[in-house]
Amino acid sequence: MRISVDNSVCEAHSQCYVVDPDLFPLDDDGYSAVGTNRPVPPGEEEQARLGVAACPVAALRLDEEA
Ligand code: SF4
Repeated sequence: MRISVDNSVCEAHSQCYVVDPDLFPLDDDGYSAVGTNRPVPPGEEEQARLGVAACPVAALRLDEEA
């Protein structure tokens, strides 16, 4: 499982970070620093789903197969 962020969509709401600061790091301005195809460690899949679902502007994408 991998997470990606579309930084052209992210509005620095930080809701992903609130769910899990390790899976969803922010940059110094509060925007997502997840990047592209960030691996989700084993056992943290549900946290990843919750964090992606928490984004109010749907900036995060989850690739379940990768
Ligand atoms: S919740 Fe969405 S808008 Fe907020 S920092 Fe995370 S990716 Fe960006």
